[in-house]
Amino acid sequence: MHSVRELLSLFAMNPSAESHSIPLSDGNRIPLLGLGTYGDPRTTPKGTALECVKLAIDVGYRHFDGALVYFNEHEVGQAIREKIADGSVRRQDIFYCGKPGNDFYPKDGDGNYIYHHTDLCATWEALEACKDAGLVKSLGVSNFNRRQLELLLNKPGLRHKPVSNQVECHPYFTQPKLLEFCRQHNIVIVGYCPLGSSRDASWVNVKCPPLLEDELLVSIGKKYNKSSAQVALRFNVQRGVVVIPKSFSPERIKHNFHIFDFSLTEEEMKAIEALNKNIRFVELLMWSDHPEYPFHDEY
Ligand code: NAP
Repeated sequence: MHSVRELLSLFAMNPSAESHSIPLSDGNRIPLLGLGTYGDPRTTPKGTALECVKLAIDVGYRHFDGALVYFNEHEVGQAIREKIADGSVRRQDIFYCGKPGNDFYPKDGDGNYIYHHTDLCATWEALEACKDAGLVKSLGVSNFNRRQLELLLNKPGLRHKPVSNQVECHPYFTQPKLLEFCRQHNIVIVGYCPLGSSRDASWVNVKCPPLLEDELLVSIGKKYNKSSAQVALRFNVQRGVVVIPKSFSPERIKHNFHIFDFSLTEEEMKAIEALNKNIRFVELLMWSDHPEYPFHDEY
């Protein structure tokens, strides 16, 4: 009998493109590779996400990461519906991760953000009710630190544990401590910005150097005839971290999927782990005065 941790590493070591998913603690599975769908709404033409998600389904992606606040969730949904209707895919084969909420960062007259008086446990109970009602299959969290995860895990009357925590994760921000904590609690880490982000200075910390230009990633890539992007994705997948690279370029959507036909040696994995700079691309400093701002804690 394998522990969940062993199973994770077995699946992560050798996932094929067709069956690249790992188990979640609630009995569902999550594909190790998903398509991120956040593109700057000011510069992304309408219909882009629709076409990209349809193409990604043809390429083999079965996991999509979206949100109402990405302003294109309706396109992602339409693409999935169209590909189900044309027989390319079945609904039960698609893992869609959405993030609920209906207010787009309201501000007061002075331009300050109006915060909701967040009670994470009450919010979690509302999400549990959604799962019990069959509206969602799996419940996860995003940008939770250890304290916030423990708050939920120790909540009296907890009915559903969080199965995943979507956080920034890539070779320059490897999350060793949070990853270990999550492994102990069977929580899968879903890594956002797995390619080092869009480097859009309006919301990304661009003081951190460009990940994809890293010499080690480039040189390891040369050995396998892969790009630094593919090496960065493979690194996480191989250690059981789900990745959700965003691309709205047909070529790069295909390119990023080709990470299941090579594997990194243990030494290469260790060398990439050592690239960790512990600097976030996504700091969300505009919300650092929020009582639940997660990044004041070490992890
Ligand atoms: P990312 O996936 O690390 O990087 C995306 C950037 O890399 C885009 O500019 C993309 O441009 C480019 N790119 C894609 N493939 C490439 C390749 N093979 N070579 C070179 N450049 C490549 O960053 P992200 O979009 O910030 O993160 C991924 C997803 O995570 C988001 O889309 C979103 O779904 C999610 N996310 C969640 C949170 C959260 O707080 N929960 C925060 C941030 C992001 P092209 O489109 O032109 O290819």
